[in-house]
Amino acid sequence: MKKLKLPDELQTISVSYTKYNVKFVDQEYSEANGFLGILDTEKQQIKIRDSLHNNELINTLFHELFHACNFHFGMKTEYGSELEEKFVECIANGFTEIIVKNPELLKWIDENIER
Ligand SMILES: [Zn+2]
Repeated sequence: MKKLKLPDELQTISVSYTKYNVKFVDQEYSEANGFLGILDTEKQQIKIRDSLHNNELINTLFHELFHACNFHFGMKTEYGSELEEKFVECIANGFTEIIVKNPELLKWIDENIER
């Protein structure tokens, strides 16, 4: 299976007023540091294991973006706290499944959201 990559225009993703640089890291590094994805709000960076495929990569990206939402908009819990992990995992897994099961939803949102 071919590795999924982000297009150039998504190398940075804005959350609130912060632009997060998305960086792919190799499996050896991410395993040694115990993550699939990790958010660094100080460096404004999201690191993602480069060996993840499609839904696993998308789910991991959502997971880290929801951590960012939590930091910028939310509970401001400690990154990686048990409460935040449960919340972010629930929302990322649920949102990924909603998109999988409702293929027209993102298309409808993209066509109708006011930017
Ligand atoms: Zn997490």
